[in-house]
Amino acid sequence: MGLYVVTGSASGIGDAVAKQIRAEGHQVIGVDIRDADIVADLSDEANCESVITRIRELATDGIDGLIPCAGVGPECPRPALIPLVNFFAVVALVNGLLPLLERKRGAIVLISSNSSRMLEYDEDYMQALLTEDREKALRLVETVDGQGAYGGSKQALTRWMRKTNAAVAGCGVRMNAIAPGYTETGMTASGKSDPRFREALKQFVDSIPIGRPGMPADQADAVLFLLGGKAGFISGSVLFVDGGHDAVFRPDSY
Ligand code: NAD
Repeated sequence: MGLYVVTGSASGIGDAVAKQIRAEGHQVIGVDIRDADIVADLSDEANCESVITRIRELATDGIDGLIPCAGVGPECPRPALIPLVNFFAVVALVNGLLPLLERKRGAIVLISSNSSRMLEYDEDYMQALLTEDREKALRLVETVDGQGAYGGSKQALTRWMRKTNAAVAGCGVRMNAIAPGYTETGMTASGKSDPRFREALKQFVDSIPIGRPGMPADQADAVLFLLGGKAGFISGSVLFVDGGHDAVFRPDSY
């Protein structure tokens, strides 16, 4: 039986990932701001350290996987939470839990987004994230809109994954990311119910080539594949799980 850490386990993609891992007979330590084994607000740097300490106490033999799903969307009323939760908390957890993953030659699956290539973002903001300049990133996020703040956070996270991948692989740990497209979760429900975005959102979803929106289980299926032995030679990759949407928007890029 394996032991996995899933953040954002209370809802949406994190909940689906935790359920699938448990259904395969493994244990999950769920972390979320609510309804989780470890309840913590991951936007706070000190809380991230406390979570890492708690997981070290619970998982003395190491962990088999880390899936940091906790995140906030472009409509988040406090813009600072976008870089804090979507980028800095993920980086802190990967760095802090790497020794535990190394012990079991585990795997990490980050949650990027296909919007990291679709949404325009401010380059300085994205670079501030990538260089882990927290002060600058938190200053700049107040000057960009929600879409740019979100897209930039996922772009930075994905590039960070690729830049650090060799070092992580050197510890015997595979790290990859999925890039979900539009997926029906709490995050997208707010846009759907807002009359200002409803029509545009419907058109966007209708343009997904597979002909339907993503469901949390679609994302969890991809995460479990990347965690497992069948993905044993996959490292530093970004798997688009978006019904073909990225291929429509960027047919000449891969
Ligand atoms: P969701 O809102 O259903 O789940 C997010 C989870 O993160 C929630 O359980 C929430 O409580 C938790 N969370 C938020 N802020 C937190 C904090 N400060 N501390 C601890 N936990 C916190 O949304 P989701 O769609 O399942 O999102 C999961 C991940 O997938 C996110 O990283 C999101 O950016 C990414 N994503 C989602 C979509 C989509 O269309 N739904 C598309 C691309 C990427």
